[in-house]
Amino acid sequence: DLSLQRTKQSRDLNAFVCVTEDTAETHSIESEKRFYISKQPKVLDGVPIAMKDNFCTSNIPTTCASEMLKNFVPSYDATVYSRLRRAGACLIGKCNLDEFAMGSGTVDSIFGPTRNPWQYDKKKWRISGGSSGGSAVAVASGSCLAAIGSDTGGSTRNPAALCGVVGLKPTYGLVSRHGLIPLVNSMDVPGILARNVEDVATILNVVAGPDINDSTTIKKPFEPITLKDIDLSQVRIGIPKEYHCEGMSREVIDIWGLVADLLEQQKAQLEVVSLPYTSASIAVYSILNQCEVASNMSRYDGIEYGLRANVNSSTEELYALTRHQGFNKVVRSRILAGNYFLLTRNYVKYFIKTLKLRRLIMDDFKKVFSPDGGVDLLLTPTTLSDAPLYHEFVAKHNRDQCAFQDYCTQPANMAGIPAISIPITLSKNNLPLSLQLMGPPLSEELMLNVAKKIE
Ligand code: GLN
Repeated sequence: DLSLQRTKQSRDLNAFVCVTEDTAETHSIESEKRFYISKQPKVLDGVPIAMKDNFCTSNIPTTCASEMLKNFVPSYDATVYSRLRRAGACLIGKCNLDEFAMGSGTVDSIFGPTRNPWQYDKKKWRISGGSSGGSAVAVASGSCLAAIGSDTGGSTRNPAALCGVVGLKPTYGLVSRHGLIPLVNSMDVPGILARNVEDVATILNVVAGPDINDSTTIKKPFEPITLKDIDLSQVRIGIPKEYHCEGMSREVIDIWGLVADLLEQQKAQLEVVSLPYTSASIAVYSILNQCEVASNMSRYDGIEYGLRANVNSSTEELYALTRHQGFNKVVRSRILAGNYFLLTRNYVKYFIKTLKLRRLIMDDFKKVFSPDGGVDLLLTPTTLSDAPLYHEFVAKHNRDQCAFQDYCTQPANMAGIPAISIPITLSKNNLPLSLQLMGPPLSEELMLNVAKKIE
């Protein structure tokens, strides 16, 4: 009840695309009954959660914040959602996002932008970050204990950082993508947003592990994570010098140094390391993103499901008008650019070349995490500044918004490694500032334990 009350009170923030009041009530009655019968509560019995609206939920609309799927009601549940349900969680609503998760602000949604709760003034307000901005605001404003987002280039960590909550992007393949409407299949992972590291670990332990419905999940059974008071003297932490980039605010640089010093005082071994291909990463990410988007979006043709334009002259015109009416400019421009890179004459020049560069970016991480003298984790900022003002942010093109916002986050998606954003302090604007830890594949346990020392 309190969750629903808070959700209603914070309606102006526009975190929710739909509030599933009846579903939440049914779920909580089910968990209460279960408790009376078995007297053994499940780990999430009665716990309110929210899902980004690009995760399929049966009998509940799943829109991707797009005209294309505005009336789409899936017939099945995403694996992440069914596991949360099985553990007793109650769904209170579906959260706002940039259309098809393409963005870094939650400003390009058919439902309008999501507002940052930290500074809310009707005329002058800040973006929530994105594309999982609705999920971050749902947690930050106290509507739910945890929310699920998705992370392709930073979409979980970025809004977590700007809204002052913890945001985890797990190792690629650790959490099933089944039922997550794809953006970039080779980079997408469900992300977890919660108030603290402990809650993130609890949710991860429920949703992680192999899934027969997603062939890219890691086959090895998942060992639940335990949080303990670890000895930092055994932990080597790298500060990658290339993340100290143009446009990073002084305050972000200062907290980065401050937390590095604090970790050193707690006896962690800190060293400056290098990831030479970092500067190529944004361009590589953007080309690969557009290529996979061009291919993924071809399923929306106005025939099988989703929007169908009112055309009866020809099939081609039906495709064209449906896609024109169904997708916003950002989606359409990514489809166009992706198809250009995939043209026979450009395929080797752009697509294959970019894949090779992606390999070099991955190799940078492999070297830096090498068991032979490498580090255990990397410490970097999550975003280059605190939350931008809405009117300043939307004055920029989506491409430039992402190039700036995703600088520190997208390399982890390129390499498939885990990363977590942890809120540190407030800026002089009274807005959250956060840092990021990254680790080698499947290093979630160490990463969360160190994150716990920092939060
Ligand atoms: N901002 C990035 C993009 O628009 C990342 C999006 C995401 O992680 N879903 O592609």
